[in-house]
Amino acid sequence: MGDVRGGAGSDRDRRIGRRALLVGGLATAAGSAVLARGELARLWWRLPGVERPRVAGAVDFRGARWVAASPANYRRADRPDDYRVDRVVVHVTQGGYASAVKVFQDPAHGAAAHYVVDAGGAVTQLVRELDVAFHAGNRSFNERSVGIEHVGFVERASSFTPAMYASSARLTATVCARYGIPVDREHIIGHVEVPGTDHTDPGPHWDWDRYLELVRRAARA
Ligand SMILES: [Zn+2]
Repeated sequence: MGDVRGGAGSDRDRRIGRRALLVGGLATAAGSAVLARGELARLWWRLPGVERPRVAGAVDFRGARWVAASPANYRRADRPDDYRVDRVVVHVTQGGYASAVKVFQDPAHGAAAHYVVDAGGAVTQLVRELDVAFHAGNRSFNERSVGIEHVGFVERASSFTPAMYASSARLTATVCARYGIPVDREHIIGHVEVPGTDHTDPGPHWDWDRYLELVRRAARA
């Protein structure tokens, strides 16, 4: 689980500056007829400062159930334009599914992950990937990562079911593909490996070799 919020930033100021630069560049490109109309339409959404579509209840992982976290537990952003996403952080909830979802909906909790995967492999998304979820207890790691909670207890090996591993691996594989994240232990890490954290999840029973192999297999499929 996470604990420390990521804090506010001056994203807006940076975005406005970058937008001005990019709009200028785009106008030049359009003027020289380098970009086709379709290309322009596609690039428009990539401009920092241009709000991408945020459809209520939309999910980033097909089949995920959407349950919105409290806006107090994440910061709106526009990743990967404003922050490069290069890590997946694996967590364990230390509680059941209902209590994990409940605390992420609680504005007083100060933390939430992007996803929760349960023992049956069902995936719930609570924060959009373009936003910075407060899950790692480290501001820069929050900004650069997608956080995935697994329902169970670090000290209980039986928490980590085959269905959970398989489903989480598919999820991580799609995240890695989306942002060009290498499938290795430098980029797919446990909460315990986040600098400055005193958290121990996912703990000694989480089978990293098995998980990485499943992620690689899902990435190839
Ligand atoms: Zn954690």
